[in-house]
Amino acid sequence: MVYLDNAATTPLDKEVFDAMVPYMLEYFGNPSSIHAHGRQVRSAIEKSRKTIATLINVAPAEIFFTSGGTEADNMAICSTVRALGLKHAVTSRLEHHAVLHTLESLEKSGEIQLRYVAHDERGNLDLNHLEELLATQEQTLVSIMHANNEIGNLNDIQAISEICAKYNAIQHSDTVQTMGHYRHDLQKLKAHFIVGSAHKFHGPKGVGFIYTNGAVKIPPLIHGGSQERNMRGGTENVYGIIGLAKALEIAYRDMDAHQQHIQNLKNRMISRLTEQIPGVEFNGNSAMADKSLYTVLNVSLPPSEITEMLLFNLDINKISASGGSACTSGANAGSHVLNALNCDPDRGAIRFSFSKYNTPDEIDYVAEKLAGLYAKVPA
Ligand code: PLP
Repeated sequence: MVYLDNAATTPLDKEVFDAMVPYMLEYFGNPSSIHAHGRQVRSAIEKSRKTIATLINVAPAEIFFTSGGTEADNMAICSTVRALGLKHAVTSRLEHHAVLHTLESLEKSGEIQLRYVAHDERGNLDLNHLEELLATQEQTLVSIMHANNEIGNLNDIQAISEICAKYNAIQHSDTVQTMGHYRHDLQKLKAHFIVGSAHKFHGPKGVGFIYTNGAVKIPPLIHGGSQERNMRGGTENVYGIIGLAKALEIAYRDMDAHQQHIQNLKNRMISRLTEQIPGVEFNGNSAMADKSLYTVLNVSLPPSEITEMLLFNLDINKISASGGSACTSGANAGSHVLNALNCDPDRGAIRFSFSKYNTPDEIDYVAEKLAGLYAKVPA
C-alpha cells in the first residue's frame, strides 16, 4: 500500500510513540493535582511547552495547548475579535475551513465585516490589495495561512506581517501545514498568532498548540478549570502533549535531510507524470519549488471519462491520495480552493502529499498506475 495523503495526516513516528507510552501507563496523574503523581506529569507538560517555545523562539508562557489546529485557529480568531472588539477581518478565499468557516460565522452573527484579499488564477495573493483594504478600515484581524493544504502555495507571511504592522492590524497565520516542515522564528516574524497540529508532522492526532504574542491579551475560547493558566479549560491531553513536543523536536532535528528527500520525491513525481501523461498540469504554484510546500503536489489531469473515478481507481491499486476537483454540478460543491482558482471542472485533480517515509519506488509505482489508467481511455 502506498500512502500519499500526508497533508491529511502523517503516520506516527515510533520514537514519538515510545516517548508517549510512559504517560499512558506509568505517569497517569492529573497534572492539576498537587501530589507527587500530579507534579510528575505537570513537570513533563511544562518541559514540552519549553521544547516547543525554544524551537519557534518564543517564551513558554506564549504557548497554549489545544485539541489541534482547528481549535487553535478558532481561539485566535474568536478570542481576538471579542477581546479587542474588532469589527473588521481580512482573509483569502483559499484558507482552510478551520479559518474560513470561523470567520464566516462571526460575519453571520454580525460581529465583523469580512473581506477577501484578491488572488490570481495560480492562487498568488495580491498584497497591494491587502494594503488597500487595511488602509480604509479600522483595526483589522488579518488571517492568512502560511501554506495552502490543497495546492501547497506558500504565502509570504513575513511581508504580510510588515503590512499588518504598518496598519496596526492583528496577524493570525494558520501554519498547520508548515509547522514541523519549515523553521519558524517568531522573533523575526512578528505575527500575533500562529498554530500547529501534531498529526501533520508524525505526532498524535487531537493535539496542537497556539502561539499568542504576549502583546495581545485574549480570553479563553473553552471555559472550565484553570488549566493552561486559565486560557483553556479541561484536563490536558497529557500523552498527546508529550508526543507533540517530541514530534516537533524530531522534525527540527532532521528537517534538512527530510526536506531534501521529500523535495526529490516531489520532483520525481512531476517528471514521471509529465513524461507519461500528455496534457498533465499542476494546480496553483505546486510545481514551483520556491513557491510551494515541498510536501504537496496538486495534479491537474486532462478531461476524460475516468476523471470522476480517479481516486477510486487509485484506491483499488492500494494508493491513498486525496482529490477534490472544481465544482462539476450543483450536488457536488467541489474543492473551494480549486473553485476559487477557476479551475476547469472537467479536469481531474489529485493531491499527492509526501512524507519522510515515502520512497522513489513508490513514486514510480503511483505514476505508472496513474498513467496506465489514462492509457486505457479510448482517444
Ligand atoms: N489548517 C490547515 C491548513 C490544515 O491543513 C488543517 C488540517 O487539515 C487544519 C487547519 C486543521 O487541523 P486539525 O486537524 O489539527 O484540527
